[in-house]
Amino acid sequence: KQSDGKYMVSLIEGDGIGPEISQSVKDIYSAANVPIKWESVDVTPMLKDGKTVIPDSAIESITRNYVALKGPLATPVGKGHVSLNLTLRRTFNLFANVRPCKSIAGYKTPYDNVDTLLIRENTEGEYSGIEHVVVDGVVQSIKLITKDASERVLRYAFQYAQDVGRLKVRAVHKATIMKMSDGLFLSLANKMAKEYPNIEFDAELLDNTCLKVVTDPSPYNDKVLVMPNLYGDILSDMCAGLIGGLGLTPSANIGDECSIFEAVHGSAPDIAGKGLANPTALLLSSIMMLQHMGLTEHADRIQGAIFKTLAEGKTITGDLGGKAKTHEYAAAVIKNL
Ligand code: NAD
Repeated sequence: KQSDGKYMVSLIEGDGIGPEISQSVKDIYSAANVPIKWESVDVTPMLKDGKTVIPDSAIESITRNYVALKGPLATPVGKGHVSLNLTLRRTFNLFANVRPCKSIAGYKTPYDNVDTLLIRENTEGEYSGIEHVVVDGVVQSIKLITKDASERVLRYAFQYAQDVGRLKVRAVHKATIMKMSDGLFLSLANKMAKEYPNIEFDAELLDNTCLKVVTDPSPYNDKVLVMPNLYGDILSDMCAGLIGGLGLTPSANIGDECSIFEAVHGSAPDIAGKGLANPTALLLSSIMMLQHMGLTEHADRIQGAIFKTLAEGKTITGDLGGKAKTHEYAAAVIKNL
């Protein structure tokens, strides 16, 4: 917080549709008088000692402000490129990825009352980036599971469940097959559950969860799901599909000190620069950010306006079946504040 009562927040506009959807957030926030000053941050990677790194100025900004809002970053496919998203997660030790998926009134999907909440381990598992050629034609990729990272995300999940009063935690795993790695995660989850006696804990096999969530998502409405990295990546996209896709789903990357809030979708190069992007996911990510910062009144007001605009269905973007441009949708949200 600054002397003028405003909070500095780092803003990574991102690539592709990033600048367009970031503009909507900025416009709506200024119309709603949210006490936030955006500090624009450039994360274009630089080469340092032969490694691609995020510029120091970006790291300094986020370290100073503790909180950042991030648009999508394009990851070039192929050799020699480290994903910037992964780099950000590692730099700030963003150990937990929180991904809620809640049905949006007015946008019809096969199920009306989806309300899933998934917490994904965000730093290791198959994403450790440890891969090598054993012999020609044989490649090995290491799935790394550590007690430290597992306990950290499990503790976060139980504490989160406690804090928001969603008093059932379910660990999702494949310990039947990956007996040691997922086995460790599961046994630590069982141990952690003992520290939270008022929270009901159980575990479920990933394949079973997938089957059950798409068959009937309602039994998941009162649970916090916690799981290793890759499972969370895939399952959370599946849950996003249940509520209408990636244009609507927010996420929070929680770290020891800093947290980065971002839409789940990518840079959508197919529609970039055309004013067609739906800014809702980034907006809802910014709502998670406001809640994290304790600015709950502003969060409620803006969220109410977003949901009202979507429910009215008159000024919605193409991905939701409407005709509105990004800025027209933002203007409708501002009207509904
Ligand atoms: P994508 O999410 O960018 O696009 C998938 C489809 O969804 C496209 O048809 C796109 O037009 C649509 N879409 C996505 N967001 C939308 C929005 N807000 N409004 C309307 N339609 C939307 O996925 P992709 O095409 O696989 O990836 C493109 C690039 O984004 C890649 O370089 C990838 O690495 C990167 N990416 C970044 C992140 C991130 O920064 N967190 C996440 C995923 C992908």
